Amino acid sequence: MNQAQLPPTPATEEIANHQKDDIKHYMAALQVTFSRANLSNAVTSAPRSCPPLFYHPCYSQLELPVNHRYPIGKYRALYQHLLTNGFSSEHFLTAPAATESMVALCHCPTYIDELKHGTLDHKAMRRIGFPWSSALYQRSLQSIGGTIATAFAALECGMALHLSGGYHHAFYAEGAGFCLFNDLAIAAAMVKQQRPDLGKILIFDCDVHQGDGTAVLFSEDDQIITASLHGEKNFPARKQKSDWDIGLAHGCTDDDYLTALQQSLSLLLRLHQPELVIYDAGVDIHVHDDLGLLSISTTGIYQRDHFVFQSCRDAGIPVAAVIGGGYQRDVTALSDIHAQLFHAAMAVWQPNALER
Ligand SMILES: [Zn+2]
Repeated sequence: MNQAQLPPTPATEEIANHQKDDIKHYMAALQVTFSRANLSNAVTSAPRSCPPLFYHPCYSQLELPVNHRYPIGKYRALYQHLLTNGFSSEHFLTAPAATESMVALCHCPTYIDELKHGTLDHKAMRRIGFPWSSALYQRSLQSIGGTIATAFAALECGMALHLSGGYHHAFYAEGAGFCLFNDLAIAAAMVKQQRPDLGKILIFDCDVHQGDGTAVLFSEDDQIITASLHGEKNFPARKQKSDWDIGLAHGCTDDDYLTALQQSLSLLLRLHQPELVIYDAGVDIHVHDDLGLLSISTTGIYQRDHFVFQSCRDAGIPVAAVIGGGYQRDVTALSDIHAQLFHAAMAVWQPNALER
């Protein structure tokens, strides 16, 4: 096992006092955000018109070389799409950015330091696929903060969504495939740390690429369950072992995909009875995606998202969704597909539907 594959420090109680204070301050700031948005327990009696949505303009504010394959404008395009399709600006919340202490729950301090200061070696940076900049590092902390906030908001409200997230190729001391740090893993680790009473967490990853970093980070953890439905022929070439893996064939279409999805999720919910689902709703499974090798239709993706939300609601399990991957170069077309996640959530959303 190389260093990149080492699991996170298992005993989070071993973290230094200053890190504990740092995390305490973060949680206090998050509670302020929640109470301003009327999300906290005391004020949820008023029905909300939609689940909490987390967004930050910095998600699309990154200078990339011309013709870089990452569609960085998709976050802003998605936000604008939602504003003109049933959502208004007050529906969107800004999460506090994650701190290094929180990132250190799942990542090597040296690796964090190298990414912070731009001293990570050239080859390791090339595997990530972005040129280093301080904005890249800050954007990553903001995205992690958004996924953490989404997870806690889901616990408060039953459902919450993030207009970013899904950086599942990040390992303990190594990034890859546009992922610096693993927001899904950090959010799960934060929830476990802050809510030790909570049962299992299921990370249900439907991005076309396997959630390899997440799988390894929690390979020794029986409370955080990792599941990945991905294209068998897609990156990464070397797959890791999640608790549940389905590798779908090149060119897989809606019927086979939705059957695998429904059987997998139903089984996992019954078997593990998780008390939180973190859902990576990557749309790089789409037939027109530039990187994905599956052939799922736009309608098929909506059916997938609706099934996940409906299943969680029927089982009374909070669900925190992130948009994950999607690589069409036409960001308007791409944002239309990502937006379906939000429309599916609205179709299922019923205020206070979950028994607390
Ligand atoms: Zn992907």
